[in-house]
Amino acid sequence: MSRVPNVAIDGPAGSGKSTVARLVAQKLDYLYVDTGAMYRAITHLALKTGVNLDDQDALGLLAGATKFSNVRFCSSSDVALWCNGADVTPYLRKWDVTREVARVAAVSGVRHCLVRSQRVFARSGGVVMEGRDIGTVVLPDAEFKFFLTADLDTRIERRALEISGNGRTVDPEELRRQFIYRDEMDLKRTVGPLKAAPDAVVIEGTALTVDEIVDRIVTLCRGMVA
Ligand code: C5P
Repeated sequence: MSRVPNVAIDGPAGSGKSTVARLVAQKLDYLYVDTGAMYRAITHLALKTGVNLDDQDALGLLAGATKFSNVRFCSSSDVALWCNGADVTPYLRKWDVTREVARVAAVSGVRHCLVRSQRVFARSGGVVMEGRDIGTVVLPDAEFKFFLTADLDTRIERRALEISGNGRTVDPEELRRQFIYRDEMDLKRTVGPLKAAPDAVVIEGTALTVDEIVDRIVTLCRGMVA
């Protein structure tokens, strides 16, 4: 019997891919894997233990020594991630982690370790994995690949709504600076840059609702599997 398919969803910050990927996973009854959370976890650990973020060797060693466990990137809304036996979930969206994560994610030793772990999650198929390099590097053989885009103002607006919906205050200008910086870092790095795979379906989501994007993806996946 052939393997259950994998679905790769890539796109820039605020393109809606986390919400979309989670809902697609729910509808297909697949496991949802948020790879950004893993880069955030390494960034948190580096900041917590005082690793110099300019020291690429130290960051690579830290990533190599980090065992991800009790991963609940599940098909409900509660995403949880444990590293070396400790729950790091509450730290993943902290401001200092968000500010530094693109720097840490540009380190090839870090990417090498995390890509290896991400592939393990997808070994048996049945995974919706989202990130920046899933269709190109992590799962180049994924049966379904999507690349979500939206214009910058829409991305900022959506992320601002998400943050305020979680009861936190938000400064849209700070978000704009952060998105521009992270996009540039993610696009320009030499290893695993943010890029659509040549065989990805590109969905320009500026004028689409989350439900419309999810329906489009699920319809394509179901249509081609049936
Ligand atoms: O998706 P999220 O915004 O949480 O990702 C945080 C950061 O992690 C991104 O800005 C990017 O620098 C990095 N990342 C990456 N490759 C991935 C997923 C995330 O470089 N596959």
